[in-house]
Amino acid sequence: MTCSHSADCPLFAQFAMEPALDVWKQHYCEGDYSKCARYQLSLKGEAIPLTLMPNGKMIEQKVKSKEELAGTALFNAILKGRASMVKSMFATNVASAEIRTADGSTPLMAAASVGNLEIVNLLLEFGCNPFNTNKAGLNALKVAESKNFTDCADAIRNFMLEHKDLKAKAIKANKEEPETEQGQQAEKEEMKGIVSMLKKLNPFSR
Ligand code: SF4
Repeated sequence: MTCSHSADCPLFAQFAMEPALDVWKQHYCEGDYSKCARYQLSLKGEAIPLTLMPNGKMIEQKVKSKEELAGTALFNAILKGRASMVKSMFATNVASAEIRTADGSTPLMAAASVGNLEIVNLLLEFGCNPFNTNKAGLNALKVAESKNFTDCADAIRNFMLEHKDLKAKAIKANKEEPETEQGQQAEKEEMKGIVSMLKKLNPFSR
């Protein structure tokens, strides 16, 4: 039986088109898909990064621009709980509230996903719109709630109630193709890098 996510899984499309990747398709998508890290994450209703491989490995993408470098540094600082670094990156305009990961996650969602209240409050203060959604359709509040980080969820919920006007300015990172030609090109380049890494990875090792 084929994995029920094959219709919208971007990696499945690559496996199907590229004979060299057929082993991935056979092993996971048309085999034991319950062991696929992407499938497991989807069962939890969480956003699935494009760089997450079925065997659970995360592919490191090459940093191509200053903006991407800043984005990588910002998300690292958030995930490691380095509030002072996050603060200085925003204060000096090295980072912006517009930065997103490949799955459409915002800095605020990243802070909510690790339950860091101090950074959640900082990001709200620096203009991260809590109504923005990622490619899975989740906003930062839903991310905090899904992880049972009640203090973060309360802070985000209260902020949303006090700033309802931000809803109209929210950006949805939906599953559709990026609107700009530049975005489409960036997505193609990213997928090219992933396919080339997949050819080198062993699907049977975790
Ligand atoms: S890569 Fe994983 S989630 Fe995607 S179709 Fe294959 S088994 Fe399903």
